[in-house]
Amino acid sequence: KRQEQLARFSGPGRTRDGAPVALLANIGTADDAQAAAAAADVEGVGLFRTEFLYLDRPAAPTVEEQTETYLAVLRAFGTRRVVVRTLDAGADKPLAFAPAEGEENPALGVRGLRLGRRTQSLLEDQLTALAAAARQSEADVWVMAPMVATADEARWFAVRARAAGLPKVGVMVEVPSAALRAEQVLAEVDFASIGTNDLAQYTLAADRMLGELATLLDPWQPAVLDLIAATGHGAAGTTPVGVCGEAAGDPILALVLVGLGASSLSMAPAKIPAVRAALAMHDRERCVQMAAAARAAADPAAARSAVVDLLEPEA
Ligand code: PEP
Ligand code: MG
Repeated sequence: KRQEQLARFSGPGRTRDGAPVALLANIGTADDAQAAAAAADVEGVGLFRTEFLYLDRPAAPTVEEQTETYLAVLRAFGTRRVVVRTLDAGADKPLAFAPAEGEENPALGVRGLRLGRRTQSLLEDQLTALAAAARQSEADVWVMAPMVATADEARWFAVRARAAGLPKVGVMVEVPSAALRAEQVLAEVDFASIGTNDLAQYTLAADRMLGELATLLDPWQPAVLDLIAATGHGAAGTTPVGVCGEAAGDPILALVLVGLGASSLSMAPAKIPAVRAALAMHDRERCVQMAAAARAAADPAAARSAVVDLLEPEA
């Protein structure tokens, strides 16, 4: 019954009144790419996690090896958008060829773009390989850096990505400082993608690996919603802002995210049909009302129930 209901909706994501919201897939391997590309109405990839290429091996992958893998992923999506995230390893996922210096707080350490700045050849090779693959495919390739905290870091990355020949450059917003200073950070790039998993972790100072802290890590936390709203404001309607953390796959929260300014949502492909249906049943203005109601609430449960009260009856 539920499947039938969802099957009523197809095509690109949009609100009931027609505002486009690209529905994209999170992928982590070339196999994921094949599966996501074959799934109905997946508009592209919103987060290609490239870590799998680097983990459990004695040396970094060569430019040639990376180019081949990226090309396979890009070709699977034809002319669709593929947002590739540069390496997000750190002391929690140590690499044999970029040893961590015994950090006591790996989540606060040299991870993501910070590792790229310390070991620049790693990032340069990745950008070179991706640009080569992009030239040989028809995909709409976007590249973004993880763990960006400042406008200076955003600029540092953008200069290198563009020099490598990648025209669409962005940052993940998953560190509170980047959300608070979104106007300055986004001025350096072409797009942003909010990672709600890390944004919740860093906003509530709660280790995302600790199940005991699940309530603090809830993306419905009003403080997290406030930072997503700040990012939307910083984008000023000119820089596209997507969401690629787990929050994007919750159909009710997805409405709130659109109300906060998200123009794309990226999630596990299996979650796309329910999100598409929720969007199709609500006008954009209703999403804006929902976002305001959620932010006015005192805690995650109250935020969610305030939004449920605003759902269209058939949803
Ligand atoms: C996030 O932090 O929300 C995110 C999408 O990145 P990852 O889960 O890979 O850290
Ligand atoms: Mg993250």
